[in-house]
Amino acid sequence: MFGTLRPGCGCNGTAGTYRSNFCGACHNLAEWGRGWSLATGFDFAFLHMLLVALEGAEVKTAPCTALPWRKLPVRSATAEGRQWLNAFYFLLMREKCRDDLQDGESFRGRLGLKLLSQRAALAEEVLSRSGFPLANLVNLNRRQAEAEGSPNPTLESLFQPTSDILGEAFPHLAILAGRPRSQVGLRQLGRGLGAAIYLKDALEDREKDLKRGRFNALLACRCSPELARAVISRELALARVGLAALEIATDKTTIESVIDQLEKSLRPTRNARPKRSRKSQRGVCELLLCCDLSVCCSGAECLTCFDGVACCDAAACCPADCCCHVCVCSDDRSKEAPVSQTVAPPKKRLHCPACGSELVDDFVGVCSIDECRRCRGMWLDKGELEALTSRPLPARFLKPHVPNAAPLRPEGTRPCPHCAEIMQVNRIKGVNVDVCPACQGIWLDQGELNKLL
Ligand SMILES: [Zn+2]
Ligand SMILES: [Zn+2]
Repeated sequence: MFGTLRPGCGCNGTAGTYRSNFCGACHNLAEWGRGWSLATGFDFAFLHMLLVALEGAEVKTAPCTALPWRKLPVRSATAEGRQWLNAFYFLLMREKCRDDLQDGESFRGRLGLKLLSQRAALAEEVLSRSGFPLANLVNLNRRQAEAEGSPNPTLESLFQPTSDILGEAFPHLAILAGRPRSQVGLRQLGRGLGAAIYLKDALEDREKDLKRGRFNALLACRCSPELARAVISRELALARVGLAALEIATDKTTIESVIDQLEKSLRPTRNARPKRSRKSQRGVCELLLCCDLSVCCSGAECLTCFDGVACCDAAACCPADCCCHVCVCSDDRSKEAPVSQTVAPPKKRLHCPACGSELVDDFVGVCSIDECRRCRGMWLDKGELEALTSRPLPARFLKPHVPNAAPLRPEGTRPCPHCAEIMQVNRIKGVNVDVCPACQGIWLDQGELNKLL
C-alpha cells in the first residue's frame, strides 16, 4: 500500500503546494532521526497534506534536509500533529515490513523491522496517548491474513482491513486539527482511498501473483481486471464524496489532483513511451522532488518511496513519471478554459452511494430527485419520498428490473451523497432502504420505489 497516492502533474497550479507539503513531510520524519527523512513517501506526504490543510498551516522557508544550503518553502503541522503523523507512519511501515516477510522478501522485511523496532514503542505510546484506536493498525497483517484465508472472500471483505485503517486515521487528523466536524468526510475519504489502494495493488500484481502462485484478491474472487477497475472507480468516487464534504478551501484542488492521478493510472496503457535518458530528465520535473536531488537520481534505488525499486531509470516511482513523460496535462487540462473569478460556485456534484456514478438531477412533477443512470437507483431528500408516493408516477419509474451493469457497494456501507455519513439500513413497508442518520435523505435501489408504492 506504499507509493500509490502520487501527485498530479502539477500543471493546474498544484505543484508548488504539493512540493511544500512533501518537504514538510520530509522535515517531519527527520524529527525522529535525520536518516528517517529518506523514508518520506507519497502516502506520508498525502497524510501530511491533509493535516496541514485542516490546520491551515502557513508556508515557511526552511533548509532542505538533504541539501541544507538550499532553502525551500515548507509547510509544517503543529508539534502534536507532527508527533502523531510520525507515530502512525512508523507503525504502518512496520506492517509493510511484516507483509514483506510474509511475501518472502525476507531481507527487506527483516532490515526494516530491525530499524523500526527502535521507535515502535514510542510510536505506540504517542498514538495511545492521543486516543487513537491501535487494534486495527497493529493487527493489520493478521486481519488481512484472516480475510484472505476465508473460504468465500469478496473484494469488499479483502479491502476492508486497509480501508478500516485509513478510515480511522483520516478522521483522527480532524481531532488533531481541532476541526471535529470534518471527521465524517475524512472517514469516507479514508475508506474510499484505502479500498482503492488495496485493489490497485492487487490489479497491478495480478499477472505476477498468478505466475508465482501467490494470493491475489482478484484471482481469489474470480474478478476480471475490468470489474476491478470499475470497483476502484466506485471507491474513488465515494472518496470524492468525503472530500467534497470537507471544509478546506485552499488545498482541495491539490488533494483532488492526487485522486485524479490514481484514477488516471487505472487506464490501460496504450503505447509504451520512449524512455528518456537520466540526463534529460534532470531538472525537467516540475515538482523537483527527486529529479534534482542526488539521493534519488544518482543511485539505482529510490530512497524516497520506500519501495526500494529503481526510480528514475524505471520511472516507477518518480513524480517525473507523471509530469515529465506522460504529460496527460498537455492533452486534456490545457484545453480547459480558465476559471473565471466572477462565476458563481458550481452546483455540488452528487455521486451514487451504490456505484459511484454521478447523479443526474430530474424533476418529476412534485419534486426534483437525483437519479443514477448506471445502476438506476435514486436519491430522495428528506420529505421527497412522501411527496413522490402521493401521486401517480411517470411510467419510466415502473419499468421492469434490469440487471446491474455496475458493481454495487453492499447496503450498510454506503455514504450519504450529501453529507458523507454512512447510511443505516432501515425497513420501510417491508423494504430495506438506506437512510442517512444526519440529513434523513433516502437512497432507493432499482425497483425499491415500486415496492414502496
Ligand atoms: Zn449508481
Ligand atoms: Zn446525509
